[in-house]
Amino acid sequence: MDKKNTVKKKVSFSQFGHYNVLFEYFITHGLDQEYVVPPAITKRTMELGNRHSPDFVCSPFKFTLGCFLEAIEAGADTLVQVGGVVACRLKYYGALQEKIIKDLGYDITFVNLANADREHPLSFLSLIRMLNPDYSLPKILHTGVTVLAMLEALDRTQARLNRNVGFEVKDGDYDRAFGRFLQRLRQADNNVFAVLRIYGRTKKEMEAIPVEIPDDPIRIAMIGEYYTVMDDYSSHNIEKKMAKYGMYVERWMNVSNTLVHYSAPKRRKVIKDYVKYDMGVTTTSNIGFALDCAKRGFDGIIHLKSFGCTPEIDAMPVLRNICSDYDVPILFFSFDCQNADTGIETRLEAFYDMIKMKKENGKEKRK
Ligand code: SF4
Repeated sequence: MDKKNTVKKKVSFSQFGHYNVLFEYFITHGLDQEYVVPPAITKRTMELGNRHSPDFVCSPFKFTLGCFLEAIEAGADTLVQVGGVVACRLKYYGALQEKIIKDLGYDITFVNLANADREHPLSFLSLIRMLNPDYSLPKILHTGVTVLAMLEALDRTQARLNRNVGFEVKDGDYDRAFGRFLQRLRQADNNVFAVLRIYGRTKKEMEAIPVEIPDDPIRIAMIGEYYTVMDDYSSHNIEKKMAKYGMYVERWMNVSNTLVHYSAPKRRKVIKDYVKYDMGVTTTSNIGFALDCAKRGFDGIIHLKSFGCTPEIDAMPVLRNICSDYDVPILFFSFDCQNADTGIETRLEAFYDMIKMKKENGKEKRK
């Protein structure tokens, strides 16, 4: 038997929200390779990434580098970097991370999706070949469709959790239902109908969770930099902290909205009074979503970004203009690898108190 067909690669990807579940599914079902689940991000991951990164690079670079190094320790021999989707320095992450990892003496295969030409989808096949030279295109396409359905189901279920978790009667009900959902996705049959059944079952379970929603809850729009806003560790679990205050949180930014549902002309039209030029998918989307929420009467906006993130620094003056026009308070957080949770909680608590007071004063005036 040909040896190359029997030795499976041990592939890994950095931690990023809950999307690892989908990546794992694609690698094991679509490419027949092993997947090494990178350890959950901890202080050590951050320190590892920080130690080997250039000082002024944005924190997602440090987090993903730390994840890669820990995945290698866990047995991975092939790493995948998806950089290149966002029009910023993310494009260069892969090349630099590969050099750092190899300079540290690790003999790994580094698959950098930024090396593919998105105008020519067939160029991805040369990268797929690095993961499995004997890949089956029909199998990849079939699994790709299942994973796309999973992506949609994951993002919708996460959004449902965000909207309701702050009002659950019994602490942890939503998180437990979400955990079961992820586990079912991992074990799902490789077809869209299986995913739809899991999604429907989880939706029913979540709808059955007892909640106490006030008549006029504090509604917050969560926006910000792609990685920071979606990854719990990078965002210092801010969505969970907000839930503890009983806030309703809406976040548009997720992978399916930005990669599948995004329409640049539509978004640009919506924000044309505030922005003259295209500012890229995530920045334009954040501004558009902030404006949409301001018009829908949201009580506040929270913006998260990594220290030094240029696209989001560009968004900040525009967001201030929107908030001033619609009288919506906004709270900006800029995270690096050194933020203490206490400072974040203090600012969040002050923001919550201020919004609560503003809401009560508004009610008094209307009486
Ligand atoms: S969006 Fe900002 S934080 Fe994210 S990779 Fe680009 S510059 Fe860095």
